[in-house]
Amino acid sequence: MYVVTLSFDDGFERSSRQTAEIFEGFGLSAAINVVARGHLGEPDEAWHTRWQKGDFGLWNELQARGHEIMPHGYVHANKAERPFEESKRLIEACLDVFADELERFDRARAVFAFPYNSSTAELEAWLPHVVRAFRTAGDPIMPLPQPGQTTIRCTSFGPGPCDEHLEKLVAELLARPSGWLCYNTHGLDGEGWGPLAAGTLERLLERLGERDDTRVLPAGAALDLAESV
Ligand SMILES: [Zn+2]
Repeated sequence: MYVVTLSFDDGFERSSRQTAEIFEGFGLSAAINVVARGHLGEPDEAWHTRWQKGDFGLWNELQARGHEIMPHGYVHANKAERPFEESKRLIEACLDVFADELERFDRARAVFAFPYNSSTAELEAWLPHVVRAFRTAGDPIMPLPQPGQTTIRCTSFGPGPCDEHLEKLVAELLARPSGWLCYNTHGLDGEGWGPLAAGTLERLLERLGERDDTRVLPAGAALDLAESV
């Protein structure tokens, strides 16, 4: 059996709407990781602010339609470049905003997606006491989800299009006896770092959907799978 988790980071408004529609077309849930203050102009970097971010009105709508909306930082800080206490405060501030703004948000069930897939050993030791699991950099092809798993390894590709890189990793996954691929992309059709073509996404979901041995699931739903067996 194979599990593919394809997450879309940073919460670009246009791409998030389109991603959700594409996943819905295949009866699937999209995984969208958003910055708590994204709609308020964070991160305040020229390359990033070019693209409009969604707000919690949109995130609640997409969640109600069955998609998984997860935290991706308060201001998209690189946690490996900050003191532990400051990173902790930022993650807690992010989770507070989610608790206030996202309906039915439960931090004990949340999967925190580190910005830049960048974490530290200290944060990785602390975070499982706060959230269900976290996603950070590492070998993106893991064993199938395990009960109680708190670390999800993942990769991404950029700043150019990630289509080929993603296709290569899917082929690597399917060449193994089983496994869980977690791949992190951003926007569609030129939006964000390492964008994916909408057509590539549609063809990939179609191909994976034809396989009886493969499930495309957001990170939280993939962990649920381990707990339901
Ligand atoms: Zn990001």
